Amino acid sequence: MSLTGETPDPAFARVTREVSSGSVAKGDARYKALINSIDEGFCVIEMIFNPQARPVDYLFLEANPAFEVHSGLIDVVGKRIRDLVPNLDEHWFEVYGKVAATGVSIRCENYAAGLKRWYSVYAFRCEGADIRNVAVLFNDITERKRGEERAALLTRLSESLGSVSHEADIARVALASVGTHLNVDRCYFVEHDESVHLLHVSRNWLRGDSRDLEGMYVPADFGGAAWWEKYSGGNLAVADVTTDPLTVDHAKRYLDIDIRSYATRAFRREGYPMVSLGVTETSPREWALEELRLMDDVMARVWPMVERARTERTLRETLELRVAERTAKLQETISELETFSYSISHDLRAPLRAMQGFAGVLEEEHGDRLDSTAREYLRRIVRAGERMDRLIQDVLVYSRVARAETHLERVELGGFLAGILESYPHFGADHARIETVPPLASVLANPAALTQCVSNLVSNGIKFVAAPTRPHIRLWTEAVGRGRVRLYVADNGIGIAPDRKDAIFGIFYQIDRSRGGTGIGLAVVRKAVERMGGNVGVESKVGKGSTFWIELEAAPRT
Ligand code: ADP
Repeated sequence: MSLTGETPDPAFARVTREVSSGSVAKGDARYKALINSIDEGFCVIEMIFNPQARPVDYLFLEANPAFEVHSGLIDVVGKRIRDLVPNLDEHWFEVYGKVAATGVSIRCENYAAGLKRWYSVYAFRCEGADIRNVAVLFNDITERKRGEERAALLTRLSESLGSVSHEADIARVALASVGTHLNVDRCYFVEHDESVHLLHVSRNWLRGDSRDLEGMYVPADFGGAAWWEKYSGGNLAVADVTTDPLTVDHAKRYLDIDIRSYATRAFRREGYPMVSLGVTETSPREWALEELRLMDDVMARVWPMVERARTERTLRETLELRVAERTAKLQETISELETFSYSISHDLRAPLRAMQGFAGVLEEEHGDRLDSTAREYLRRIVRAGERMDRLIQDVLVYSRVARAETHLERVELGGFLAGILESYPHFGADHARIETVPPLASVLANPAALTQCVSNLVSNGIKFVAAPTRPHIRLWTEAVGRGRVRLYVADNGIGIAPDRKDAIFGIFYQIDRSRGGTGIGLAVVRKAVERMGGNVGVESKVGKGSTFWIELEAAPRT
């Protein structure tokens, strides 16, 4: 028989019809048989109103046997509800008072906090009897309600877990939702460390000022062999540690850490409990089956996520370690190679100088004995020698930049750039116009490395101009946020095609070899800037000039 269905079944309809119409007289055997036969709790109550006509209490006039089953209250007839359940919620009085006063029946689902139970209720006035009498048919729907709440909690939990991936966040979200839902003092994960025989409370959620439980615990402190057998199985519910035979001898240890009652539920893998979800209370508490079931469901959902997050973290850490090791090894190889190329380049200069020297002597002392073809060959040897010497020198500069200590200091670009432009008189030899645009910022840089960079960029700006244009170089600075400054070097030269903008910073790369050079200048700039913790780039359009920039850390204000 159902109270909540849309169409009440015939027995239910008969009870309500006959009782409400008064057709079954009180004390009548048929009436008794009828109300005793139904599964729902049934009672007739007399409402008691105060002088302001507010319903303040009620007296039980009748109750069927099912009443006891559903309410847990016995021998109620002739007693007042306030005496039986002193803290019954006010809304019950309001509901029944309204039925008594208006005669309009009410069907509702209500929570009785005093009884900690949910009820589905149908209340109607007994016609013909005293106007204040109300008949109540009700069902205990606590299990169903808790099932619905559990499903709602799990849905909410799944939604919140969808947006987290770190182990700590997963644990925080899960523990907080179980803790709040079950209204406990603490909620935690406890992992069994078989090897050292310790209990590890890895994460806990705490209500208000409850004491933190995270840490390691010795199982023997909390119970004997019988307790351990149950506890290590993962599922245990103790309503009161001071009376439960499993814990009574160890009650003090529990009370020391504010535990009067607790429950744990295990997450199992291949039958073995791996970890448990635990809840504790500072006062005695009976743990309902529905509550334990909820903990099981949460564990089944959450723990695999925690495990996945752990595996991912371990994997990430291993990978990071491996990358770091490889990078270190690479760095070592690079620096070995740089040392090697430095010494090779250095050693190459001696035989080269000898070749150049002897070519010079040959031309000077024996030139007149050579015919014009032989002299042309000799000139070519000398020119090739000069080019090789330039190449070697540039490679040596590159190696020096790559290997040198790059101590950074405050460089005020105003004075610094003026100094460079003065000390490179050949910049002006090409009738170039070079101007700096104040105000110029201060940066953290290595003066020697920065001098090399500026001089390479300015030289290129002058060199890569189509005749008869007069080279015009402008230098200025801009703050680019995050405490960084860019030094710009702009020219009115031939420009660079977009697909070459990255390549030109590579060593030996030249777009057009006819202008001399070695293709090392910009590689030196990039290396030097990187060593100063900065970066370098270029904006350009073919035929419209290029603007190179060097980005460095701004010097702190003095
Ligand atoms: P190099 O100047 O010795 O050729 P760089 O490394 O300094 O070597 O430059 C590489 C190449 O980048 C140059 O050969 C040139 O093709 C191009 N480049 C560099 N600076 C400029 C510039 N200001 N304008 C146009 N092209 C440039």
